[in-house]
Amino acid sequence: MKSFDLIVLGGGSGGLAVAQRAAEYGARVAVFEHDRLGGTCVNVGCVPKKVMWNAAEIAHLMRQASHYGFDLRVGGHDWGLLKRGRDAYVERLNGIYRRNLDNKDIVTVHSHGRFTGAREIVDEAGERYRAEHVVIATGGYPRVPELPGAERGITSDGFFELEAQPERVAVVGSGYIAVELAGIFRSLGSEVSVFVRFDKLLRSFDPMLSDHLMQHMRDAGIEIVTGAVPRAVGGAAGGAASGAQAGMDSGADGSAGDSADGGADKHAASNAPGITLETEDGRTFAGFDALLWAVGRQPNTSGLGLEKAGVETAPRGHIPVDAWQNTNVAGIYAIGDVAGKAELTPVAIAAGRRLGDRLFGGQPERKLSYEIVPTVIFSHPPIGTIGLTEAEASERYGDDALRVYKSEFVPMFNALTEAKPRTAMKLVTVGEEERVVGCHVIGPGADEMAQGFAVAMSMGACKRDLDDTIAIHPTSAEELVTMR
Ligand code: FAD
Ligand code: NDP
Repeated sequence: MKSFDLIVLGGGSGGLAVAQRAAEYGARVAVFEHDRLGGTCVNVGCVPKKVMWNAAEIAHLMRQASHYGFDLRVGGHDWGLLKRGRDAYVERLNGIYRRNLDNKDIVTVHSHGRFTGAREIVDEAGERYRAEHVVIATGGYPRVPELPGAERGITSDGFFELEAQPERVAVVGSGYIAVELAGIFRSLGSEVSVFVRFDKLLRSFDPMLSDHLMQHMRDAGIEIVTGAVPRAVGGAAGGAASGAQAGMDSGADGSAGDSADGGADKHAASNAPGITLETEDGRTFAGFDALLWAVGRQPNTSGLGLEKAGVETAPRGHIPVDAWQNTNVAGIYAIGDVAGKAELTPVAIAAGRRLGDRLFGGQPERKLSYEIVPTVIFSHPPIGTIGLTEAEASERYGDDALRVYKSEFVPMFNALTEAKPRTAMKLVTVGEEERVVGCHVIGPGADEMAQGFAVAMSMGACKRDLDDTIAIHPTSAEELVTMR
């Protein structure tokens, strides 16, 4: 039996963070990881997604460039070359993560880890390990609905395996991944239809963001089919144009048109082979080269032997924790996606580091506050959102306590361009002092704007503090400190 101070199950964002923080305090640490180091974010999440988003942004800018006097030929995008560059970057990161662990004398066990008792773990070779503290940081995996033919679709994991760009794509879902990957496909030239169950994308976000994003996506030629509850998937990938080079000339940024809520006729009429999607209300949408499920993620808790350790799970498989990341079993903790709260890399990292401080750094009260979590959706344009939506603030503080500031404008970049997309901003404030409890922006630059405003909000900024801040001109961000 090998003995450690801390065993971490999962070498992703949260697991690596707690392992390294603990080792910095001198703890003897082992990290179990059966796949590539870095977890979802580095291998099939934030990092490769951002590379693809960058490519999509370049395509978008190139289409605007003529209005600034450039004579650019837009087209001939090489998806395969982009993928190779992206994969090589991710591989370099895997190596860096490995060296970081080695440099801190953290033992990496390249194996699935499973509980055999409370704080006792066995690897695939049968080797046994024990530690005073065990952190479960096993993350999650994309959910695929249990429907006939669902296996014909891919998930975000499959998106990163695509060797060539599909020409016609169905994206099912309405959250982060649906809007991000639909935007990338479209900007790089695919025809894209997004299927949402209700009437909007991003339903849990402030409606201003959702409404504006839907307009932007439709203006870019993305079809958004509403009220579409999937019933079955038929046909086969590899039909008409699987693997075909969609190419950027195919009309992204407006020329593909939009059928908004109807859609079925357009797809039926094409009579194209490929994948078909049937919805509960009897519509059939045909002719896709790829169908992507983006309907949420499931926690990685089965096969962990949690019952042997006595660790409880919630009905959907997440591991409930208290404010200090404690599970129901002393000495066993859960952080990151597996704990099911704000499934974001910086949240997993912050929870891991604070747990390391608490267990090994002599800071017994150290814990993560989930109160103000800034987040960016890498749509086109991006969304930056911090704190409460207007509805959440109203529910918590009452309508009378709220004062909401809004602004909408065409960014200066578009003064010269034909398209006039609008940026939208909202500040939600509460009380006499107008403390800012929500800040929501959709528009170019929103991704980089959010971090600084999150600092201000974490410090308790009030509207007056923003008003007293000198604006930076000419930027879009200055609007947030000049709202009336
Ligand atoms: P993970 O990073 O998933 O790590 C868990 C690790 O545990 C995995 O490596 C897994 O192989 C390993 N593991 C599981 N079970 C075992 C076991 N029994 N034994 C050994 N190892 C095991 N977040 C952002 O903040 N910004 C973004 O832009 C962003 N983009 C995303 C894009 C996509 C397409 C996806 C899918 C996610 C994105 N996320 C983003 C979310 C982010 O990736 C996750 O919130 C984050 O990775 C969670 O970290 P984690 O440590 O909880 O789990
Ligand atoms: P999300 O939870 O963001 O969105 C999934 C949505 O799909 C649901 O909200 C639901 O919306 C819809 N849905 C659920 N089930 C079905 C179904 N059976 N059929 C059709 N639609 C369905 O999940 P994602 O998979 O997009 O992303 C997972 C998580 O990863 C995110 O929540 C986020 O935490 C993280 N992430 C973060 C990113 C970032 O920081 N930029 C980027 C990507 C992921 P509705 O109820 O409206 O139908």
